[in-house]
Amino acid sequence: MAIIKDSFFINGRWVKAQSSETFEVFTSGTGELYATIPAGTVAEANSAVEAAAAAFPAWSVMAAKDRGEFLSRVSEKLAERSDEIALCIANEVGMPLMLAKGIQAGIPTATFADNAARAADFEWEEEVGNSTLVREPVGVVACITPWNYPLHQIANKVAAALAAGCTVVLKPSEVAPINAFILAEIFEEVGLPAGVFNLVTGSGPVVGEAIVAHPKTDMISFTGSTRAGKRVMEIAADMVKRVSLELGGKSANIILDDADFATAIPDGIFKCYLNSGQTCSALTRMLVPRSRLAEAEDLAVATVAGYTPADPITGASLLGPLVSAAQKERVLGYIRKGIDEGARLIAGGLDAPEGLEQGYYVAPTIFSDVRNDMTIAQEEIFGPVLSIIPYDSEEEAIAIANDSLYGLSGGVWAGTKEKAFEVARKIRTGQVEINGGNFNIFAPFGGYKQSGIGRELGKYGFEEFLEVKAIQK
Ligand code: NDP
Repeated sequence: MAIIKDSFFINGRWVKAQSSETFEVFTSGTGELYATIPAGTVAEANSAVEAAAAAFPAWSVMAAKDRGEFLSRVSEKLAERSDEIALCIANEVGMPLMLAKGIQAGIPTATFADNAARAADFEWEEEVGNSTLVREPVGVVACITPWNYPLHQIANKVAAALAAGCTVVLKPSEVAPINAFILAEIFEEVGLPAGVFNLVTGSGPVVGEAIVAHPKTDMISFTGSTRAGKRVMEIAADMVKRVSLELGGKSANIILDDADFATAIPDGIFKCYLNSGQTCSALTRMLVPRSRLAEAEDLAVATVAGYTPADPITGASLLGPLVSAAQKERVLGYIRKGIDEGARLIAGGLDAPEGLEQGYYVAPTIFSDVRNDMTIAQEEIFGPVLSIIPYDSEEEAIAIANDSLYGLSGGVWAGTKEKAFEVARKIRTGQVEINGGNFNIFAPFGGYKQSGIGRELGKYGFEEFLEVKAIQK
């Protein structure tokens, strides 16, 4: 039985949607209907912003440790409901359940806890000469989020904004929205003051643009495609609103000649294929020395044998389906383009994985002999497609890594950490992992170039939601 949602969470209560128009959400693994959600109108978006604006004066002056208390309780409730959240997102997005539990449910839970502690411990004032610098919340924040790590991206914005003393209107992706309803239920349960958090679902061009354009919205925190991010920035420019953008990526993983290939290549494939490649920071371009291309290809092909796609709920694979039929078509289009442009297909391709004709599965795919000017090396595919690009010198590898409109993430593998660190400093991206360094939820995440503006997570993510006032004495 499909889940049916017919209300928005506005001003502390569930408000029935005015329009009968709905969006359908599909189970990625089977293509069956998973849920329907209401399509919000401009009027509903506006009333959510009004509620957030009305709640701001009291919330912004509440003692930060008391705000943190609410967020701590949210984190506890998220932990209690983690199985349900993981199952929900495994259905909506298609990430295998065993990974979804730790990543899709666990990370947002930790992010709420981190922001709870941060609000309590933050130095809100600083003395500079004859000035006292006071940090104050920006105001009402419109949070617009995508579908690939849906609750994680929501938590990055909402937890930090609320901890800082801002109030929020959230418009999640229509493709994976049910986790956002769970979060709203939790806010209701912990007794968050009315209007501090509001949820309105609907399309980006209608609800998204309405909350961005509303005169009482002070800041927009957006995660999604570069195309939609540019549109958001354009609208926000009219009233000079603060904009924080987390956009796409096309990250390079440089494997230097003295690296341990047997470790680096399987690790690189995992970081390309995680969440079926639907990860903004996915390491989608693997750069290997031309003299060792054949060896790298053999290792890559052997690794892919361990990535047979399976149902995300019932299967036992690291690889599930893509999120939707549209995404599957988009990815197959890129595979076709790679073949047409002359890249050499060494694994996967256009055929659906055997026995998985229902649902949105694409075979794990590897192209080799990719040139960096090919479409598959320049554009974000958001599918399980790896491009292996040969290089002739370290300088060329760095130049290829930086030859991208994007600047979100990257990887470097070398014989020593010192060498990898030296190369990492030359990569123009917001993050770089060396010799397989783990994702760190306390480290700032965000992009150079067209990957965005601003940072999320940890101290830097929290400070995005603050103004600074200098009071001279
Ligand atoms: P989209 O840009 O299509 O959508 C993201 C969100 O923006 C959705 O909620 C969408 O609404 C909304 N939106 C769309 N158009 C507008 C508009 N004109 N005004 C306001 N809001 C709008 O991205 P996807 O959901 O397809 O997500 C994938 C993209 O997100 C990839 O490019 C990926 O790289 C990027 N991403 C970046 C991350 C980062 O941190 N840098 C992290 C994760 C993803 P709707 O419900 O209608 O789709």
